[in-house]
Amino acid sequence: MPTTVKAYAATSATEPLTPTTIELRDVGPHDVRIDTRYVGICHSDIHTARGEWGATNYPVVLGHEIAGIVAEVGSEVTGFRVGDRVGVGCLVDSCRKCPYCRRGDEQFCAEGYVETYSGTGRDGRPTQGGYAEAIVVTEDFVLRIPDGIALDVAAPLLCAGITVYSPLRHWEAGPGTRVAVVGLGGLGHMAVQLASAMGAEVTVLSQSLEKQEDGLRLGAAHYAATSDPDTFSRLAASFDLVLNTVSASIDLDAYLSLLAVDGTMVTVGIPEQPLSLDAFSLLMRRVSYAGSNIGGIRETQEVLDFCSEHGIAALIETIGADQINEAYERVVASDVRYRFVIDTATLA
Ligand code: NAP
Ligand code: ZN
Ligand code: ZN
Repeated sequence: MPTTVKAYAATSATEPLTPTTIELRDVGPHDVRIDTRYVGICHSDIHTARGEWGATNYPVVLGHEIAGIVAEVGSEVTGFRVGDRVGVGCLVDSCRKCPYCRRGDEQFCAEGYVETYSGTGRDGRPTQGGYAEAIVVTEDFVLRIPDGIALDVAAPLLCAGITVYSPLRHWEAGPGTRVAVVGLGGLGHMAVQLASAMGAEVTVLSQSLEKQEDGLRLGAAHYAATSDPDTFSRLAASFDLVLNTVSASIDLDAYLSLLAVDGTMVTVGIPEQPLSLDAFSLLMRRVSYAGSNIGGIRETQEVLDFCSEHGIAALIETIGADQINEAYERVVASDVRYRFVIDTATLA
């Protein structure tokens, strides 16, 4: 018997999200059914709902920052039991055989990983995300939420947390490195906390000084407004790593000018339109321009454990399902401090 659950879905690029029901797949031998408790609103949900990245499979239930409780396990499941506190992020399956999957980088799966929503599951059905009462996921893609973190503030670690943790690790943020975090939103506020816990000297580059107090409290040593033209001359050539979390187009040459020799600018923000840059911005100080895509399952567990050990969590504003559309408008207007999290009990 398929299980039907309440959910919220986008039905087109222009209509508000509306209540709906979805049918979950049967719990297979290796599957776990999770009753959701909280789900974060990532800016990627909004880009996808609005069709800003190209084809979206409508209707789509967004949400890939899912925290909940195991409600049912398949006959072969060994890692989870009913009642466990668990999470699901942006990936719900992959080929598991390619070199990237084997080394734990499922986000680079040679066959393409299965996205939590707006993807196609290995059963051929469209995947639906966490703005729903429950989700069924194969156990290898389920994360364990440490007891030290409450479920609501843990949910955003499943995308925002891992997406900034992975590049900070890859480009070795730590003592002696100077890291600039561009944009203090969902990803940005996690990046500031994580990079400073790793020992880096962190600067926030935000559009204004409005959130300066928060940025410093989250662990930044410095804070500057990008609307102030002096910021770019004052901070020229002074960072080893610039992490761009901005959801909109920015002037790449201006930000590349902030890198010291051999520095790297990593984009995790994904604007709707392609960006261009001047070759001189790269070659004059041998800087690199790179990107990073979420993170693998092992590393996602690592960031959850790291946050628990360091007392780090997301700063959230909890909302009911009927406030999702309003929350979307506020995220787009950079009016979020710092992640909206939907209490999925309000779907009932
Ligand atoms: P968010 O909460 O909206 O944060 C984005 C921040 O960017 C805003 O808070 C704002 O910070 C700044 N910003 C917004 N518009 C701007 C503009 N026009 N000019 C300059 N700065 C602007 O979004 P998010 O959830 O953190 O996601 C950020 C981006 O990362 C999105 O594009 C999302 O799709 C992408 N993403 C990528 C991955 C990946 O794997 N690479 C994973 C998750 C999300 P200030 O107010 O401080 O300026
Ligand atoms: Zn996301
Ligand atoms: Zn693979």
